[in-house]
Amino acid sequence: MTVSTSRRALLRGGAPLAVDRQPPWTDSTFIDTCIRCGDCIDACPESILVKGDGGFPQVTFASDGCTLCGECVSACPEPVFDLNREAFEWRARIESTCLALNNIQCQSCQDSCETDAIRFRPTLGRVPQPEVAIDDCTGCGACTSVCPQDAIALEKPDDGTQQQTSP
Ligand code: SF4
Ligand code: SF4
Ligand code: SF4
Repeated sequence: MTVSTSRRALLRGGAPLAVDRQPPWTDSTFIDTCIRCGDCIDACPESILVKGDGGFPQVTFASDGCTLCGECVSACPEPVFDLNREAFEWRARIESTCLALNNIQCQSCQDSCETDAIRFRPTLGRVPQPEVAIDDCTGCGACTSVCPQDAIALEKPDDGTQQQTSP
């Protein structure tokens, strides 16, 4: 599965990009166990859970990231969530449209990352260059909506495919 956000779509008043993303701590049994009651959507303090295809909850990072607060888990009346699972399998990847990678000063994503997974490396003759420490990235998506270039994709490290943001 691949993920992305569409901050620009949000800013221009359009609907956030509908993406096929399951809520945290869910797996392939999600479709079978979720009764589409919407309780997790109502419980999410960040409003990043929305009703998606077929009425199933989806996570969207168009305006914010997941704080991993677990409110969705507590609210769910069915065995949909399992905190023993990894919350998200995808990880952040910075794409070539990143301003800093094009030698334009920008570190907007750094402060949004709670785990300090995005680091800027001093580089001779260039502005500091961003890197994602994959082992420290939780896939929370907080960095994606702050990027002015929509240059942060979320993808499974072993997937190799991704869904690019829409202009
Ligand atoms: S863990 Fe918290 S912020 Fe993340 S989707 Fe669940 S309720 Fe929302
Ligand atoms: S916020 Fe976006 S453009 Fe700026 S450094 Fe981070 S990835 Fe690059
Ligand atoms: S997705 Fe990863 S890099 Fe981005 S803010 Fe969350 S932990 Fe940091």
